[in-house]
Amino acid sequence: MERKYIKDVQPDEEIIISGWIEKIREQKTIIFIVLKDSTGCIQVAIEKEKMPDMAKAMSALSRQSVVRFYGSAVKAEKVTLKGLEFVPTSFEIESVAQEIPISETTSQELKMDFRWLELRADKERLKFEIRTFVEAKIREFFLKKEYIEIHTPKITSQCSEGGAEVFELDYYGQKAYLTQSPQFYKQMAMASGFDKVFEIGSYYRAEKSFTSRHTAEAFCLDFEVAHLKSHEELMDLEEDLIKFVLRQTKERFGDEILRVFDTEIKVPIKIPRIKLADCFSIFKKYYGVEVKESKRLDLDPDGEKLICDYSKEYLDSELVFITDFPAEARAFYTKKIDGSFDCMGFDMLYRGWEVSSGAVREHRYDILKEQIEEHGVDSAKMKDYLEFFKYGCPPHGGVGLGIDRLIAKLLDLVSIKESIFVFRGPSRLKP
Ligand code: ATP
Ligand code: MG
Repeated sequence: MERKYIKDVQPDEEIIISGWIEKIREQKTIIFIVLKDSTGCIQVAIEKEKMPDMAKAMSALSRQSVVRFYGSAVKAEKVTLKGLEFVPTSFEIESVAQEIPISETTSQELKMDFRWLELRADKERLKFEIRTFVEAKIREFFLKKEYIEIHTPKITSQCSEGGAEVFELDYYGQKAYLTQSPQFYKQMAMASGFDKVFEIGSYYRAEKSFTSRHTAEAFCLDFEVAHLKSHEELMDLEEDLIKFVLRQTKERFGDEILRVFDTEIKVPIKIPRIKLADCFSIFKKYYGVEVKESKRLDLDPDGEKLICDYSKEYLDSELVFITDFPAEARAFYTKKIDGSFDCMGFDMLYRGWEVSSGAVREHRYDILKEQIEEHGVDSAKMKDYLEFFKYGCPPHGGVGLGIDRLIAKLLDLVSIKESIFVFRGPSRLKP
């Protein structure tokens, strides 16, 4: 006998179904069970007189126990679940569930302690089906363009993004770090002549932030391309990627996303590009918000939200690029714009959050070394990284895009925690 998923059950076939007991309803002569597997629910009917042992075992069984039934389905027009009823001839109890410790009204923290139980809900499962699809589409986009997928080390000897936010570990008696980004290795791939690379993987940030958009273990897409000169080219590429992913996701899941998450995916015709300096004029003109000169190095969370409001209302896009940041506010490896204090770095924002950062990198050894010093870092400490640029390295640039954030925004979730399988943060190391 073959095990069938509940969605595939047809009448009058001898089969096995296996899943969780969702509901048990005991009547005088019959016991009805709603059995659930990953594909749906079906009603199981057990006549007490015909199957006394089975009926006795089932009436004593707790919800969420796992049972395997042997038998066949019959047509039952009155039954709302598929118009079918499963009539078992035998059964096996695979696992008896204790009382479920969480419910709809349980606190978020307790739900997270029992994350696997929380994930049993259809809505949760759907999130991860969508996530799987999105990641597959991202991969498809790059494979079509003949990118090489790389897997960079997660244990490293150098910090790429700054000192304080790094997890240190003991590596055979030597100090090592969990990677904060594949930045250095993506750049190494450029020096290796790989030309176009991408990676989908985790990076680790030891920031003590309790915001709704930070996690200690962020899952991200990174890509890097050689022989490009301007950040416009990079934004063109990222714009193509994001429109492709949104369009495909809308086509496949748009209706379900609207029904379950009450949000509509909108694919912009064009993702606007606004210079950081212009954001502050827009805030003043459209919202009467004045930002102090000293706070104009970056957008703060309120600024990110406001510029997204503006983009949505006036430019018909829920996504927006912010470009031309002051060089001092960006990572030392960002290439400067000739004759300007600004650099070729940009962010992409989506529904009020930064979801990606990108830049053309400085690939010339001497200038890179200078920029490291300008950022107050001893270039001797960056010796290993600087080696990549000594033996011929093409100009290049790339992007890092947070997939946890992208999914959270796509589904209009309140927190990044809700888009991650098992979340990691300053006060969360379990399960
Ligand atoms: P933020 O300023 O929002 O903390 P960041 O500028 O430090 O982010 P980047 O170094 O630019 O982050 O990393 C590229 C992308 O990776 C970010 O735009 C974001 O989508 C994602 N990312 C980075 N750090 C985190 C994190 N701690 N939690 C969730 N996503 C992250
Ligand atoms: Mg950033």
